[in-house]
Amino acid sequence: MSFAADVKNELARLSYSRPCCRRAEVAGLLRLGASMTLRAGQGLGLTFTTENAAVARKALVLLKELAPVETEITVSRFRRLKKNNSYTVRVVPGPAVEGLFAQLGLTPETMPQAGKGGALLRRSCCRLAYLRGAFQAGGSVNRPEADCHLEIVAASFQPADLLHSLLKRCGFSPGITDRKEEYVVYLKEGDAISDFLSMMEAEAAVEAYEVARNVKEVRNQVNRLVNCETANINKTADAAARQIADIRLLEAKGLLAHLSEPLRETAAARLENPGATLSELAVILGAGRSGVNHRLRKLAQLAHDEGEEH
Ligand SMILES: [Zn+2]
Repeated sequence: MSFAADVKNELARLSYSRPCCRRAEVAGLLRLGASMTLRAGQGLGLTFTTENAAVARKALVLLKELAPVETEITVSRFRRLKKNNSYTVRVVPGPAVEGLFAQLGLTPETMPQAGKGGALLRRSCCRLAYLRGAFQAGGSVNRPEADCHLEIVAASFQPADLLHSLLKRCGFSPGITDRKEEYVVYLKEGDAISDFLSMMEAEAAVEAYEVARNVKEVRNQVNRLVNCETANINKTADAAARQIADIRLLEAKGLLAHLSEPLRETAAARLENPGATLSELAVILGAGRSGVNHRLRKLAQLAHDEGEEH
């Protein structure tokens, strides 16, 4: 599964306790992922489409909570040659639909090009909830090992413009661009993406992102230190990068201080000598090569156990 899908699954599992935020989240979901339907003699309806089952369920639950509307959910395969399933949540035209739209600030004129947020987004808690909904419906983020990129795609300019100003209001420096028939609001910096995920309370995603960024950063550092990139050196560098990320994780969790002296010394020596081979580390520590190897494995195991608990 992609990292973006992981993030959406995590966000879909979370829920806000305040009614105002639940309403703002569903507004974000619908403005980015839904289109309004108007059939002669039937009145207004709504169609929300997503490739993520958890997000479809989330939309359904929040919708049903807001108004006694009739809903249908359908699954179709191979939409537009893509191999992902596509889930469609439909709000069937009926007497409660108008009230639902009013609660969400949606009118035929503003949908899908909903303008400013108005009352719905007056509170800061609701602005975050709206962004969380918008990301679940139209968002995507590169896996942490790849280039830093997070985006939310909108079908028209107004919702994209609203996202752009909401993100700016939260202290980000987002970009906005058009791509084919769509508008894309994006973040390009690792720090910003990590901050966004953390603002969305996607804790597992933040942790994965931070660990991978540490590995990336240390690998770059190591690569700068060693000029000739033979396969062997890269292997050492990769191992060192992993070890350093593990040690940093233990450090961040406050566990490092509680480890035995040999483990702490080994961790410190590794941090101070990112480019050292195992044999060089052994010399620095005045210990045997296999002993040092054992300690590094132990640190990796502890970091792994710690990572799995979350
Ligand atoms: Zn709120």
